[in-house]
Amino acid sequence: SKLRAVDLAALLDRIAGDVAPEVGRGAVADYIPALARIEPRTFGMAVAEVDGSLHGTGDWRRPFSVQSMSKVFTLALVLSRGDSVWTRVGREPSGDPFNSLVQLEHEDGIPRNPFINAGALVVTDELARHGDAAGALLAFLREESGRPDIDVDPEVAASEAGHADRNRALSYFMASYGNMRHPVPSVLDQYVRQCSIAMSCADVARSALFLARHGIRNDGTRLLDLSAAKRINAVMLTCGTYDAAGEFAYRVGLPGKSGVGGGILAIVPGRCAVCVWSPGLDARGNSVAGVSALDRFTTLTGWSIF
Ligand code: GLN
Repeated sequence: SKLRAVDLAALLDRIAGDVAPEVGRGAVADYIPALARIEPRTFGMAVAEVDGSLHGTGDWRRPFSVQSMSKVFTLALVLSRGDSVWTRVGREPSGDPFNSLVQLEHEDGIPRNPFINAGALVVTDELARHGDAAGALLAFLREESGRPDIDVDPEVAASEAGHADRNRALSYFMASYGNMRHPVPSVLDQYVRQCSIAMSCADVARSALFLARHGIRNDGTRLLDLSAAKRINAVMLTCGTYDAAGEFAYRVGLPGKSGVGGGILAIVPGRCAVCVWSPGLDARGNSVAGVSALDRFTTLTGWSIF
């Protein structure tokens, strides 16, 4: 049964209260120095419904670093132009950390899925065939969120660019197998900028509504066909939280995509997009309070896909 708008706003406030003891738990990502300076005791959560209504609690209007949540949007933009990317990246959960190198050597430079770093670098490289990938992503996010001021945080981008040896290694390793179309420095530059985009929970939830609407954008036009939208949600479910995807499906039961900025995007197909943010991460790079909040959300609403 559909909760009324007023109930949903109250529900989010209740969830914020329920998870308050967990806000600040975990560790803020510190391998990107600019992220290590974030105040860990923040929490925000927003729900955008398919009819356009928006609800939130806590710091839901405050911009933060989207990091790997950007991988959902670059994949969608690539798939809106055809599905040739699937010859370059797989669709299986990796069971390894998000920045792992080990599997690439066993599988000829083809990353397991588009949401680990290696796979996302391939997706960005594929998107760059049509011009600047980070620029295309920004244009899309500005249109969907209705916020023309959404941009790359230059401090986070510079900090990440200065600490990108792992992503550089992944890219050159894939290039050695012929799985990079563009020079590695240009792909890395676009990847770093896409990860460093700053958005609020409200912006992210609104921008992801096409996944709740089976491919239809906020202006009513179609970005993706039904199958492509279904497939992105499927890969989010199986791969979106890295080596914790099984636990996330078990606790939350929704397609989800986390980022080391502490954000998690989750989709309730046919109903809404949810974004939660709290910077304290667990050992696998997922927001501690964020996962708990989404666990509470699906428990209280009954809106999981299962
Ligand atoms: N920019 C980060 C990186 O490439 C993104 C990782 C993440 O959010 N899991 O390491």
